[in-house]
Amino acid sequence: MPRERSILLVDGQSFYASVEKAAHPELQDLPVAVADPERRSGIILAACPLAKSYGVTTASRVFEGLAVCKNLVIIKPRMQRYITYSLLITQIFESFTPLVEPYSIDEQFLDVTGSVGLFGSAEEIAALIQHKVKLSTGVWSRVGIGPTKVLAKTATDNFAKKHPDGIYRLGYSNIEKDLWPLPVHKMFMVASRMTRRFKTWGIDTIGDIAKMELPKFKSLMRRMMGKQSDIQAEYYWQTARGIDPSPVVASISAPLKSVSHGKTLRASLYTQREDIEVVLLELCIEVCRRARRLGVQGRVVSLGMGETDGKKGNMFNRQLTLMHPTSLTHELLTAVMRLFEEFWQGMPATHIMIALNQLSSDQVQQLDLFDDRRRIFDLEKTTDSIKDRFGDMAIMRASSLLDAGVARERAEQIGGHFK
Ligand SMILES: [Mg+2]
Repeated sequence: MPRERSILLVDGQSFYASVEKAAHPELQDLPVAVADPERRSGIILAACPLAKSYGVTTASRVFEGLAVCKNLVIIKPRMQRYITYSLLITQIFESFTPLVEPYSIDEQFLDVTGSVGLFGSAEEIAALIQHKVKLSTGVWSRVGIGPTKVLAKTATDNFAKKHPDGIYRLGYSNIEKDLWPLPVHKMFMVASRMTRRFKTWGIDTIGDIAKMELPKFKSLMRRMMGKQSDIQAEYYWQTARGIDPSPVVASISAPLKSVSHGKTLRASLYTQREDIEVVLLELCIEVCRRARRLGVQGRVVSLGMGETDGKKGNMFNRQLTLMHPTSLTHELLTAVMRLFEEFWQGMPATHIMIALNQLSSDQVQQLDLFDDRRRIFDLEKTTDSIKDRFGDMAIMRASSLLDAGVARERAEQIGGHFK
């Protein structure tokens, strides 16, 4: 067993608002929100802690904020400045460890396993970071500590943000006491539709999943959602037990922004869930193949879909961030299925677009306790080279042979145009 890792997730409190308050000392003691001041119905992107104490909330409307806090100062967002500050904070982190992975503009993972001897315990490093970041940017950091990225993130969101020190450790010794009593919607990657499902199965807390044996949980999900759900079941179960081998990967600046693939469909043919699922699988196969060809993997998965029943229509484009970057078909498909389950309104599909974003080099492969990711990667690379040599028809999943399959049709086209 390798030694337990020390991973931090550092979150900047009220990030945009804190940057603005640092840039405007005269606003220090005033409630500040970042939003477009010209639009009363605009969305508040960030509110400083003082504004929050009046009841101003992020993602509410400007007029709602002003209703609860009359002297609320509204400042126009300056995204470029926030990006600069975010990079500056990355540099501070890099003085503690080279393993720094931005998760969002105001959240970054650090693997400090190798730095602990140099700078003190993970808690001491966390306190040093709070101090340095506050001094140079004015932003107060909350730091979750854990042996895995999911536990570090969970520690930040559920505990460090509420703790007076802004530091909290969620380790294997306290997950039973701290993590398991949390309601299931607090579990990483569980969205509202899945929460409702869990509730109907009698699952209320994260511990309800963790305490079940995996085969039992799998068969429960299978009964409700079909065979497709096995991978998801394993993922949730691992997450509930704090299992997450994903490494902190220092991101490279790739000129490429995303790898995507889409398809316009005849709605009359794609009315059933099973038909749409076939297309989702095919698009995932193609996106992953393109990613592997470019030597990249992506951590943000997006699904765009149009649907209509002839009278009304719906379009959405939703994203989710994975714990580790991937170019493996089954992992992309699992994420896409989660988005599909959450946002598809059940109408026939008119177009589908799948993309992998936030790319990094695939030279760094994360190893998994459960499936051998390296082996699957190699297998998929082999499939790629067979297709490259003998054509896209050479190897295809059996589901593509169903009528809904568009892969065959596409194999006869280049870039959407017939050869
Ligand atoms: Mg934040």
